[in-house]
Amino acid sequence: MTARQHRGLDSPAAAQEKPGLSPRPKNSLPSISVVAPAYNEQEVIEVFHRRVSAILVNIGAPYELVLVNDGSEDNTLALMHRLQAADPHVTVVDLSRNFGKEIALTAGLDHSSGDVVVVLDADLQDPPELIPEMLDGWRDGYDIVYGVRSQRDGETWLKKGSARLFYRFLQSVSRVDIPRDTGDFRLMTRRAVLELSRLREEHRFMKGLFAWIGFPSRPIAYRRDPRLAGETKWNYWKLWNLALEGITSFTIRPLKIATYLGLSVAVLSLLYAAFVIWKTLMFGDPVRGYPSLMVVVLFLGGVQLISVGVLGEYIGRIFNEVKRRPLYLVNRVLSSQLRAKTTPPPSAPT
Ligand code: UDP
Ligand code: MG
Repeated sequence: MTARQHRGLDSPAAAQEKPGLSPRPKNSLPSISVVAPAYNEQEVIEVFHRRVSAILVNIGAPYELVLVNDGSEDNTLALMHRLQAADPHVTVVDLSRNFGKEIALTAGLDHSSGDVVVVLDADLQDPPELIPEMLDGWRDGYDIVYGVRSQRDGETWLKKGSARLFYRFLQSVSRVDIPRDTGDFRLMTRRAVLELSRLREEHRFMKGLFAWIGFPSRPIAYRRDPRLAGETKWNYWKLWNLALEGITSFTIRPLKIATYLGLSVAVLSLLYAAFVIWKTLMFGDPVRGYPSLMVVVLFLGGVQLISVGVLGEYIGRIFNEVKRRPLYLVNRVLSSQLRAKTTPPPSAPT
């Protein structure tokens, strides 16, 4: 499938070049690192390697493929080792256990050495055919060229709908402009990767972190293909937690909502109390009012519990951050030629 076909619509930013860009020479070629986190991807990892390599060879720049094994329980690591033995373009980063996609991705970025880094999912849901077009964006002077999903094949309407809702919500509450329908699929310059690697928070909502660093960015639209094989690792519970992560990492609005909710309930209760007192004075008080009492007690209890829960979400995250543990531990790294040649990048701060 060609890059054109993958683009459902024209790149919205193609026309509006920004001032402040320093375009690069038309035929310049950066060295390219493709970073892919993989967890139990034995069905696809070889196809992934083949398809991505073909494109990178075509581009003609020095390149490497950084495959991160995120504690897979299947044959993924063995297959990666085999690929690495046969192809000097492959770096294998084997993490000490499963750390989750966001951290595996960070590990891959830390171990990449190219002038530009392209992040891809190992399941080939992000078309590598778009890399040449991303390079065009790089030549135009952009630091970040990110894919925006114009279409998602092979996903249920519930997933699509909830994803859309989530992005809308996040955008409305967060001060950082987190682009909608954007995944991790993107090209970044070395300086963007270096800045990103300075953000070492444990609760990593990568889409938010990507947005936080800023820099000139250009979206390109693409059609997200269905997974090639294997299964998605995301269920609704995980997605819900990811959403919580996104919200709590980028806004404290829920804490404020709790305050205002508490305030309004308190004011309403006062008014109601005044009404009850007035009623008693005017009409006396035969013992009744059990229902209203229950309603008030339950309602207030609910409001308090929700507020405490919101507080808990944030305090839990503070607890995790203050421990300052390293983000991940590496079991073993096998370096590609490119990585071996370039001076080792500043090792991951711990
Ligand atoms: N992944 C990972 N660690 C995990 C879960 C997933 O490295 O704990 C990788 C996975 O191998 C894939 C990418 O993250 O390359 C995206 O995962 P998945 O396809 O399950 O997510 P989806 O595309 O459904 O959002
Ligand atoms: Mg996937």
